[in-house]
Amino acid sequence: MQVGFLGLGAIGAPMAAHLAKRGSLTVWNRTVARATEFAALHGARAAATPREAASGAEVVITCLPTSREVEALLEGPDGLEAGLQRGTLLIDCTSGDPGTSRRIAQRLAGKGVAFADAPVSGGVSGAEAGTLTVMVGGDDETFARARPVLSGFGKRIEHLGPVGTGHAMKAVNNALLAVNLIAVGEGLAALVKAGVLARTAVGVLNASSGRSFVSEALVPERVLSGRWPRTFRLALLDKDVGIARTFLHEAGVEGPMLELAGQLLSQARAELGEEADHVEAIRLIERRAGVEIRG
Ligand code: NDP
Repeated sequence: MQVGFLGLGAIGAPMAAHLAKRGSLTVWNRTVARATEFAALHGARAAATPREAASGAEVVITCLPTSREVEALLEGPDGLEAGLQRGTLLIDCTSGDPGTSRRIAQRLAGKGVAFADAPVSGGVSGAEAGTLTVMVGGDDETFARARPVLSGFGKRIEHLGPVGTGHAMKAVNNALLAVNLIAVGEGLAALVKAGVLARTAVGVLNASSGRSFVSEALVPERVLSGRWPRTFRLALLDKDVGIARTFLHEAGVEGPMLELAGQLLSQARAELGEEADHVEAIRLIERRAGVEIRG
C-alpha cells in the first residue's frame, strides 16, 4: 500500500518509521532537511510538496501541532487537497479540534476523499515501541479502512464515534493529564518543604490511591532524576486543555477544574516558552515554592 505521511515531529517521525518498514512510504515535512534525513534513514521517498506526498497514495496521514496547520496545509496549488485523489483516505493523527475536523471532513467528502481523526496517546516512547493508543472518529467504513494502517504504530485502536470524537476523547485525556501534573507537583513541593524525602513521598503515592501516570512514570523518570527531557511540548498540552474546555462548554458541562488547569498551563507556557516540555510545569511550581523535588 502506498502511504503519504506529513509532519515528522517528535511523535510523527517514530510513527512514520513503523510505516516505512511495512510498505511504500512518501514523507513531507515543512523543514525539508528533516524529510530528506528521514527518507535516507528509513528507505522512504521525500516529497517536495504536500501535493506530491499525497499523489498516488491510498492513505495519507497528517501529524501537525494543531488542526489550524492541517487545514492550512490543504490550501493552494501545491497543497494537500490538490494531491488527494477520489477514493483516498486522509487520517489526521494531530491532537486537533473536533469542529475543524468536521469542516475538513465535509470539504473532502465533496471530492470523494474519506476522513478520520485519529489522535494518539503513549508519548514518543510509545510511538517508538509501536504501542500507541489511537482514538478514531469517523464512519464505520472509514474506521475499517484506517485500522490496518493505524496498527502499524498503535496497539489499542478504538473507534469512538463520528468525525471529531477522536479529538474530543484525546483532549479530555490530556486535560486530565494536565490537572494531575499540576496537582502532583503542588502536593510534592509541599511534602518536600515539610521535610519528607521526595522518593519516599512518590513511593507512598504509588502504593496508595493518589497514584497516576504522572506519579508512576513522569515524576520518577523526569523530576526525581532531574533529567527533564523534552518529548512533548507544554505548548501542545496547553492547546489540548483549550480544546477540552471548548468541548465541555459546547456539551453544556461546567468545567471549573479544567478552566483553572488551562489558566495555570497558559501562564506556565508564557513563562517557560514554546519549546519547554510539559513536565517543566512542575519545575515552575518548584521555583515558586523554593524547593527541588529530587532524590
Ligand atoms: P512537534 O512540535 O515536535 O512537531 C510538529 C510537526 O509539525 C513538525 O513536523 C513541524 O515541522 C510541523 N509543523 C509545525 N508547524 C507547521 C506548519 N505551519 N505547516 C506545516 N508543518 C508544520 O510536535 P509533536 O510531533 O510532538 O506533536 C504533533 C501532534 O501530536 C500534536 O498535535 C501533539 O499534541 C500530538 N501528540 C504529541 C505527543 C508527544 O509525546 N510529542 C504525544 C501525543 C500526541 P518542522 O519540522 O518544520 O518544525
